[in-house]
Amino acid sequence: MKWTVLGCQSPFPAPGGATPGYLLEAGGKKILIDCGSGVLSQLAKFLPLYEVDAVILSHLHHDHISDFFVLQYAIMIAMNQGMRNRPLPVWSPAQPDSWFRQLSYGRYIQRQAVKEGDMLKLGDVKIQFFATDHPVPCYAMRIDSGGQTILYGADSGPKTDWISMAAKPDLFVCEGSFLEAERPQNPVSHLSVKETAMAAKQIQAKQLLITHLSPLAELSEVVREAASVYPGLCHPAKPGLIIHLA
Ligand SMILES: [Zn+2]
Repeated sequence: MKWTVLGCQSPFPAPGGATPGYLLEAGGKKILIDCGSGVLSQLAKFLPLYEVDAVILSHLHHDHISDFFVLQYAIMIAMNQGMRNRPLPVWSPAQPDSWFRQLSYGRYIQRQAVKEGDMLKLGDVKIQFFATDHPVPCYAMRIDSGGQTILYGADSGPKTDWISMAAKPDLFVCEGSFLEAERPQNPVSHLSVKETAMAAKQIQAKQLLITHLSPLAELSEVVREAASVYPGLCHPAKPGLIIHLA
């Protein structure tokens, strides 16, 4: 499997950056996971937008979906010009309903709801959905293909039950929205970098990719805080970072 970071900042992009979005290439499929602000211009560096086989949205918050509404135009134009002959399927939670309904776009997009416990099969790629601790329905994804496992944590607060999702995943992609010292006063349904590292240690992840970073984050501080807890290989996310699993 190949995991490419397209966007990794939240809640708004850094200059030249993007909010969350990832390209998963596995089993011959090109799957876009989340599609935040700036993701399409990053994705276009790797492939024509109309070659995406499927989109999966972890939840319907703007920093994870805003460019999806522009992708609708790219798919429409590709189909009308004969560059693509099939609608683009998108899976997401069904709530909030007002946003879920807008994922449809004529004959160009096929929207489908997912819920906790669902298993999606795209070719030989299996994707299982688990609820996280977040104010709207939000699903982590356990992705299995070719004997490898990726756990994508989506957005999550500290009450998420990671143990039930995977043990020793080859890659754990998890948000670390702030340094422990910069924790907001009110609980925000997000994780500090330290909490991310604790979760990675708990499930014995082989590699940790910390994402959903503040656009102001110092990556060296992110790595230092994670390494104080998690002994494995830790990557801070950056647009264009590629992790190969084989
Ligand atoms: Zn988010």
